[in-house]
Amino acid sequence: MKLFILCLLVSSQAWAFRLSTNINATFADKNVKIFVTSNSTCTQAGISPAELLEIAVDGVNKFWNTVPTSSLRLERGGILNTTNPLFLTGILCASDSESTCDVTTSVPAVTDIVIACNNNTTDNFPSASYLGLSAPTVLSGSKIKGSIILINDSAASAFSKLSRSEMESVLAHEIGHAIGIGHSNKNEALMYYKNSDKMHRLAQDDIDAISYLYPNKLDGCGLFGGIINFNQKNKNGNNFILSLIFGLSLGLLLNFATKHITRHVKTDRQLS
Ligand SMILES: [Zn+2]
Repeated sequence: MKLFILCLLVSSQAWAFRLSTNINATFADKNVKIFVTSNSTCTQAGISPAELLEIAVDGVNKFWNTVPTSSLRLERGGILNTTNPLFLTGILCASDSESTCDVTTSVPAVTDIVIACNNNTTDNFPSASYLGLSAPTVLSGSKIKGSIILINDSAASAFSKLSRSEMESVLAHEIGHAIGIGHSNKNEALMYYKNSDKMHRLAQDDIDAISYLYPNKLDGCGLFGGIINFNQKNKNGNNFILSLIFGLSLGLLLNFATKHITRHVKTDRQLS
């Protein structure tokens, strides 16, 4: 009975995070690799593909790979050898986009997470203040097969003026979108729609988001059915509390996940 009361109290809390797809899409594989295209010279920022990959890997190790309640591990993939110019100039089209994007104008289909420096100022980066753009672009049902991250490499791009640490934070924010997380209402969160370059650690809402999408272990009453495990001794209080929130706030979360990728992408362009 004591634990049941605790469930009720915890379930009264509300999360602020949203998801980047309206179908709660996640990568099926819990080990997702990060690649940078070989033709991403990032001329404005003056960084090579190998340097950009290092920045991204350092970013995930500083942020997303630190969450014990998440089963997801983001890993170094490598340099994706390609000469396809659409990585550099193509439009990022969301899978449910209402636009007229097609394969002749959009960035190529990918697997895992692929980062490219892109200078399309017409469709992707109409302002130099935009840092990046990201979305799952290849899905199979509710499973993400591939996501694209475009870094603004247009003239006078704000990204090119960031410190390395700030670039790590921005890459981590965009990778958050790539794995299925939308924007948070919490201004201290890495996934807040702006100021991601100023973040040095995940906020609780970021931790809740990745733990919801990629739960490590639901050993409390994570789902309604799991409530019958009241008497099971739990070794990790944080896991247990999160599990309680997962189960009893599920209805609220399903409502949160109603944003279309297209709308999310537009919001992301407000980064400054
Ligand atoms: Zn964003």
